[in-house]
Amino acid sequence: MDREEILEILRGYKNIKIATLGSHSALNILKGAKDEGFSTICLCREKERIIYESFGVADEILELKDYSDLFNIQEELIEKEVLLIPHGTFNAYIGKLDKLRVPIFGNRVLMEWETDREKQKQWLLDAGLNLPRTYKPEEIDGLVIVKYPGAKGGAGYFIATSKEDFYEKSKKMVESGIISEEDLKNVFIQEYIVGANVYLTFFYSPVLNRVELLSIDRRYESNVDGIGRVPAKDQLKVDLNLTYTVVGNFPVVLRESLLSKAIRAAINVVEASKKIAYPGMVGPFCLETVFDEKTDMYVFEISARIVAGSNVGIPNSPYSYILFGEPMYVGRRIAREVKMAIKKSMLDELVW
Ligand code: AMP
Repeated sequence: MDREEILEILRGYKNIKIATLGSHSALNILKGAKDEGFSTICLCREKERIIYESFGVADEILELKDYSDLFNIQEELIEKEVLLIPHGTFNAYIGKLDKLRVPIFGNRVLMEWETDREKQKQWLLDAGLNLPRTYKPEEIDGLVIVKYPGAKGGAGYFIATSKEDFYEKSKKMVESGIISEEDLKNVFIQEYIVGANVYLTFFYSPVLNRVELLSIDRRYESNVDGIGRVPAKDQLKVDLNLTYTVVGNFPVVLRESLLSKAIRAAINVVEASKKIAYPGMVGPFCLETVFDEKTDMYVFEISARIVAGSNVGIPNSPYSYILFGEPMYVGRRIAREVKMAIKKSMLDELVW
């Protein structure tokens, strides 16, 4: 798909409607759009319809059999003058995003980089950030976290302490069908940083040319967050499999002196993004970090779109309140950016 072709479609719009898939952070996105006066459309499956109906955030609900039906109703969406706001659920369709003619807020190329661990690593290193070390299996010499390509939301991850431990656990996972032999070749092994997990949601505004810290959260992960409730002596007796499956999020306020590390990292990530694909980062992104006992910040992942953890920032976080002095959260901030861009004839800069 040619970016120019999408911009042509966008330039034909007279009355933009904001739409997204009904999952992940759709409540955040659609409420934000309504707060800024846009009409909204929710594209959801029958089983999730109840959520969007009960919160009344969508002026229109279009039911899809499956999220991938998005590709079959493109003409209808373009006719309705839809600007799509992407979130985590879109990642499953990243490989196909270049077949989507509907304008998307943000940068499709960066969203694709996000789903490729090697590209992500290159991006974060280009930004000069401190990353956990990555290992080949035979190099493992301490605590590592093992991430298989198919693992989503932390479900198939495991901890290993040596290469022997790694091979033994991998073998078990293949035998139990959790991963395939093929997955073994594409394994991603990262130094496990023991510390405080901090997920930083930023917003890069092309209109104001600034990076804003909108909210911070930490995840509530099953069962890694539950294991501490079982005494260590009993943990040893039962063979518990740790998983990092996300079930929710908590808001976090960072020790103020640590904000300088976070903000500097975000500015560097935005600068590095401009070299990857024009127009570079647009809108929300998240740096997933761990602060160790020396308060050194390690960035272990980046998301190049809204993350569900930013839902803790509705109607505002301490940071967005300090910045805006009014309720402001990612969904609303996206809609505000679109509104400001329309006024300044800068809408092209927000879309790829
Ligand atoms: P991810 O899918 O990369 O977001 O990781 C899922 C979860 O695994 C995170 O929320 C952390 O709890 C944990 N995690 C991932 N990578 C690391 C790391 N290098 N050090 C410590 N914890 C990690």
